[in-house]
Amino acid sequence: MIALLLLQIIFFVGYYVMSITFGLFKIFLTLLKFKNLAISTLCNRIPIEDRKKVVIVGGGFSGSIVAQKLENDYQVTLIDTKDFFEFTPSILRTIVEPQHVKKIQILHSHYLKHTNVIQKEVLGVQSREVILDDRSVEFDYLVINSGSSYNSPFKESSVVSSARANTLRENYYHIRKLKRILIIGGGIVGVELAAEIVDHFKGKEVTIVHSQSKLMNRFPKKTIRYTEEFLQKRGVKLIYNERVVAHRGQTFITDQGSEIIAEQAFLCTGIAPNSNFIKNSYPDAISENGYIKANDQLQMAGTTFYRNIFVSGDVLHVREEKLAQTAECTASIVVNNINAMESRCEHKMQSYKPFAKPVLISLGKYSAIFVYKDYSITGFLPALLKQAVEFKTMVRY
Ligand SMILES: Cc1cc2nc3c(=O)[nH]c(=O)nc-3n(C[C@H](O)[C@H](O)[C@H](O)COP(=O)(O)OP(=O)(O)OC[C@H]3O[C@@H](n4cnc5c(N)ncnc54)[C@H](O)[C@@H]3O)c2cc1C
Repeated sequence: MIALLLLQIIFFVGYYVMSITFGLFKIFLTLLKFKNLAISTLCNRIPIEDRKKVVIVGGGFSGSIVAQKLENDYQVTLIDTKDFFEFTPSILRTIVEPQHVKKIQILHSHYLKHTNVIQKEVLGVQSREVILDDRSVEFDYLVINSGSSYNSPFKESSVVSSARANTLRENYYHIRKLKRILIIGGGIVGVELAAEIVDHFKGKEVTIVHSQSKLMNRFPKKTIRYTEEFLQKRGVKLIYNERVVAHRGQTFITDQGSEIIAEQAFLCTGIAPNSNFIKNSYPDAISENGYIKANDQLQMAGTTFYRNIFVSGDVLHVREEKLAQTAECTASIVVNNINAMESRCEHKMQSYKPFAKPVLISLGKYSAIFVYKDYSITGFLPALLKQAVEFKTMVRY
């Protein structure tokens, strides 16, 4: 009990020290941004209407970085279905702390000063323009960062998708009253969601149904064991090698015939790339499972490659874990490559090759797992580290 109290005190002191440090850091970054803006405005003699047009589809981890880094030198248009950036790795916390949403969402118009932001869905792409429902927008360069989403086979409101903070937050008051909750999918998202719920609310019956034989099956054995024990100790029931295929009212049925009673289910599986809008014009650039193919320099590639269309983030066809860090990394390469093409220094274009990245998995507020290749650290320190990553990312905006 005393140890737990001590741990919480350390956590809160650490949290507030970090808040102050990052607050000061944010002021420093803002001053730096204004300095750079002034220099760029003074030095960039090309009037804005004569600059090359860059259209960015999607304002998540990747698109927001591309817009930030290009907006002073190009005519940039960001088209996103949302009008804000959201720090997705922390959205699951909003199911138990709805007020946390304020810390992880920021309007595009707040951090983009010279970008034309359009809140719409891109419906199609032609050789030099993207198609919206009411107009088209011309581009010299197009950057596709449309990410991925969960496609629910269930249309009823008793199955909620776990991909957006606003949806999860809306469920806070509702979930407080529920007794039995089902989580479909035992990957990182399903595990984090279950942990948030059992860490915050006592007495809920939470079940995870996972189609594989282990939770988060691509992670080291030690990590999986720790996660299983963490969840089972808190009463989470784990059902392996089964898929939820149907439901009648509060009864969810698996392909093995198991029936699980739950008042609410959360869908944490079935991630699909958002690439529909290029299917008609560039069917050759779509991979078997819907991702967009690109060459090493991240230019869209099919039977040929498209010099002025770049692909970045989750929607990119690469065999690796879909992570925010990958999206940030590919975004920086795209920015470099557009600049290299514009300054006729194509030899300076960079390539992207997948590489192992560290992952932080939250298990409630005070516990997490840090995984890098075969190594993992569990407990309180990784939880603090995850908070630090959230701060570090959000101060950029
Ligand atoms: C619940 C959850 C937890 C996660 N936790 C972690 C984690 O702990 N660590 C980690 O590294 N990664 C995590 N991820 C993965 C990480 O969020 C993604 O890898 C990252 O967001 C990918 O960035 P992106 O820019 O490619 O796409 P996104 O961030 O998904 O952004 C895509 C944007 O494009 C918009 N869009 C889509 N289609 C269109 C269209 N046709 N027209 C206009 N706009 C469109 C979308 O609305 C969205 O705003 C998590 C993901 C989820 C869902």
